[in-house]
Order: sequence, then structure tokens, then C-alpha cells
Amino acid sequence: MNWLTNFVRPKIRALVSSKREVPDNLWVKCPNCEAMLFHKELQGNLQVCHHCGYHMRLPAVERLQMLFDDGAYQTIELPKVMVDPLRFRDAKRYTDRLKEAQAKTGRNDAIIVAHGRMDGQNVVVAVFDFAFMGGSMGMAVGEGLLAAARLAVLQEAPFIVVPASGGARMQEAILSLMQMPRTTIAVQMVKEAGLPYLVVFTDPTTGGVSASFAMLGDIHIAESGSQIGFAGARVIEETIRETLPEGFQRAEYLLEHGMVDIVVHRKDLRATLVRIIGLLRNPGPSAEVVQLPTAAAAEPAAE
Ligand SMILES: [Zn+2]
Repeated sequence: MNWLTNFVRPKIRALVSSKREVPDNLWVKCPNCEAMLFHKELQGNLQVCHHCGYHMRLPAVERLQMLFDDGAYQTIELPKVMVDPLRFRDAKRYTDRLKEAQAKTGRNDAIIVAHGRMDGQNVVVAVFDFAFMGGSMGMAVGEGLLAAARLAVLQEAPFIVVPASGGARMQEAILSLMQMPRTTIAVQMVKEAGLPYLVVFTDPTTGGVSASFAMLGDIHIAESGSQIGFAGARVIEETIRETLPEGFQRAEYLLEHGMVDIVVHRKDLRATLVRIIGLLRNPGPSAEVVQLPTAAAAEPAAE
């Protein structure tokens, strides 16, 4: 036992390493207007550029915090799925890609299922994490959505899904495509229970995700400027050999064309959801039926 190595050295190390922890990403450049934004300020503004209103992608956990009352919620443990049954490999093994994504994000797959209160009302929320392999939908995400739908039915709570996904996970091939009908059934369960199912489109919502549960919402809310579509614009242009209109596949364009009901600024998202859930869940007391005196009613019965 040496006092110098056991006590003094760690203290010195701590002093030195704390100096290194000064963040070097204090400023973020807005991809739209190129303004330099102060990191803390951007965080306070829910990752929206305060110069041009450009919505940057919001990490899944920050999304949950902004939605629930006082940022408080519980997550549920999601069912385990078979890992890489196809033994897929491209430039890397799929299992390695998974491990990397898990190490980077600290979660098992691209979805978080949480429940808690929004303006005092019980809700179940499934949020996609785009940082996890582009929020792609494989078996784990499919299971996650089913678990979330079951939880909503069990709690008799509205179900909100916030996709941020490039679509199906190609490393799971047909197994990921199978999640399209499975998640459709999940949505059906919620609807059969007479519970609201709301979808919040965020950037991006494309591919197999938009072609399944995401387009089945009772009400579709989209964050301003988010990309929503099935195939990529470039692929469509090359296929039909035509130039696509400006703003194609953007939230505002889809609103004009009837695929989206509401486009909101991120700061208004929570209030909008609360209002809609309130309207759908508490339609108010039914009006008392009062018989109006009519000519027919005033006359004595003909018998
Ligand atoms: Zn900007």
C-alpha cells in the first residue's frame, strides 16, 4: 500500500482529466441557414434553429422528456428477439453493427417504449431512435411496437408513436418486412379497444415504416420540415423521369395533399397532443335531449 500511488496519483489524474472534459462542440452550425448556434441555447430551444426555425433531429430521450409531464416517464423492458438469424454480412457483420449501435446509444435497439402522464392523462409513447442504425425497423422494433400497443390496451391509454426511421432494416431482409403487417396488427389492437392512436412524423419517416403503422394514425401530426415518404425523391425522379415539385415529401407538402392533418412547430407539439387527446378522450357530457313542442306532439294521440 502506497499512499502516493493510491491516493495522490488518482487525485492528480482527476485534476488533469477534468481539464480535458471541456466540450469542443459548443457551437453547432444550422444546416439550413448556416448560422452558428450556441449548443446550450439550441438545447433549450428543443434543437430548433432560432434564426430560421429549422428542426434538427431530437434525440429519443429528449423527445420523451419534452412530451411527458415534468419530463417524468417509465420505460418498459422490451421482448428479446433472435439476433441475426440470417447471419447477414455486408462490409461488416450485422452482429457487429448491432453491437456498435448498442455501445453508441446505450440501448438494445432503435425503439423506446414509455408510459406516463401528459397533462395528467395516461399515455403510452413509442419513440424511435434515429441514432440507432437510422431508426430502422427490424424484429426488435416490431416487438417493441406490439408491446407498446398491448400496454396501451392494458392501461386503456392513448397510443402515440413518434417514428424517426429510414424504413425496414435491410440486414434482417424478409424478417424486417414481416414487421409491416405485425405493426399494422398492433395498431388494429389499439383501434379495436377504442383508443386513440396518434402518429407524430419526425424527420425522416420513410420506407417500410411510412408504409405500415405510421400511415394508420387516427390523426397525423408532422414536425415542421420533416421528410415523409416511401421511396426517396431521387429514386422516384429517376424512375418516372420527371422533376418533382418543390418541397416534395416535406411535412407542409403532405399537409396540402391530405396525408398529414397538422404541421406543428416542435415547441407546440406537446400542447397539440394534449388538446387532441383531451378532445378524443373527454368528449364532454352528452347533451340532455329535450323534446321540442311540435305541432304533431301537441295534438292528442290519434287512437
Ligand atoms: Zn437556421
